[in-house]
Amino acid sequence: MNQRLEGLAQSDIRAMTKAANAAGAINLGQGICDLPTPPSVAEAAIRAIQEQRSTYTYAEGDADLRSKIAAKLARVNGIEADPETDIIVTAGSAAAFTCVLHGLFDPGDGILIPEPYYGYHVGAAKVAGLVPQFVGLAAPGFELTEESLRAAITPATRGLVLCTPSNPSGRMLSREEIHAAERIAEEFDLYVITDEIYESITYDGREHISPASTSAAMAARSVTILGLSKTFSITGWRLGYAVAPPALAERLKLVHDLFYICAPTPLQHGVAAGFDLPDSFFEEMRADYAKKRDLIVGALSDIGLAPVTPEGAYYVLADVSRMGAATAKDAAMQLMKESGVASVPGTAFFSGTGQESGQGLVRFCYAKEFPVLEEAAQRLRAWGATT
Ligand code: GLN
Repeated sequence: MNQRLEGLAQSDIRAMTKAANAAGAINLGQGICDLPTPPSVAEAAIRAIQEQRSTYTYAEGDADLRSKIAAKLARVNGIEADPETDIIVTAGSAAAFTCVLHGLFDPGDGILIPEPYYGYHVGAAKVAGLVPQFVGLAAPGFELTEESLRAAITPATRGLVLCTPSNPSGRMLSREEIHAAERIAEEFDLYVITDEIYESITYDGREHISPASTSAAMAARSVTILGLSKTFSITGWRLGYAVAPPALAERLKLVHDLFYICAPTPLQHGVAAGFDLPDSFFEEMRADYAKKRDLIVGALSDIGLAPVTPEGAYYVLADVSRMGAATAKDAAMQLMKESGVASVPGTAFFSGTGQESGQGLVRFCYAKEFPVLEEAAQRLRAWGATT
């Protein structure tokens, strides 16, 4: 058996979905995002299937979709990308990350991962033979600093993963934090891999900054990973994309071809229609998510599970230490049994080696329809009144 899988197991994100289904609880654990797909996106995919536009695309994806992505990158992200050479449409942003791991790194290479992290970054890196090097950030702000990055560097370090807006903390990197990351990346000659899957979900007028847009030097060493799962509520479609300078993109394309052949073709045609949606679609989505954030953050504050108010994305970390449970997993299970609302134990997002272990935290996902979320908030308040 593959030695690299030693100690790895499916994430608690998955385990909690199974536990929630078994208990009939409202699942605010896994980021499932069961909201309606924009009709134009769904219809374009259905049309593609009906018209038998269902054979392989190039490994880097449909040309029309890539040119739409390039236009969007220039307009929204401030990234200039040539659709012929710099963009790869991938089988979800997770596939883009896999292509990066296998295309740019060798087994034994170290990769810096600030925590709290999205556990799949860690697990996938280990499966590829890389060594995750955790950058412990201090709760509750989880600010990325040059010192914290420097402290985690070893001679083996070759890459840095940045997730903004962050799953699970909801933090968004500021320009200063990105500059700190750039200084370290320049000094130690690191690739910078950015996971920006939650780019369209931001609050309070905060601007999402794509690290690759901040300087030519940063762009030259960055792979920007984006996706459509969250923006169009199509987490099961598996449609994402990566942007990188041509020499790096070439490597990613090669791995994407070998591992996946191409992203699902009719679904590529579907998301292409999404790039024509007006700005008002994104504004409404942001406004809806802001209301949902306030609903859940309000309930958690009121019942004494102090939340880390998210700046972006659709997760909220809450402090459950007042429950006195031995572990975060115990706290999440107890909360689910007593309130009927499932969350994910905070330990799914921490290595246990940093300043914060996640033991006193759980994560809630609020990418849900309003009635479901209102019911969840009510259940949490009812639970809070009795404990
Ligand atoms: N990104 C989502 C989350 O963090 C879903 C992850 C998953 O299903 N593996 O919950």
